[in-house]
Amino acid sequence: MTSINQYCPRSGKPVQSDSLTQYRGVTVGFCNRGCRDDFAANIEQRPSDRQYFDVLIKEQDIAADALPQDVTS
Ligand SMILES: [Zn+2]
Repeated sequence: MTSINQYCPRSGKPVQSDSLTQYRGVTVGFCNRGCRDDFAANIEQRPSDRQYFDVLIKEQDIAADALPQDVTS
């Protein structure tokens, strides 16, 4: 399993293979399990993390679901 991002959206540190989760049907990664667990438990409250992944998903055209792209913040 490989994440779409190479670096943690929060720290900029390399993604760790034990710190992956699913977002919009793709695998995303974090620098540690603390980051990952916090995001996974609070996806709705982490718009900056979501935006980071949304950009990558859009660039790579790999979204597996049909969540609205234009989430007003
Ligand atoms: Zn992190």
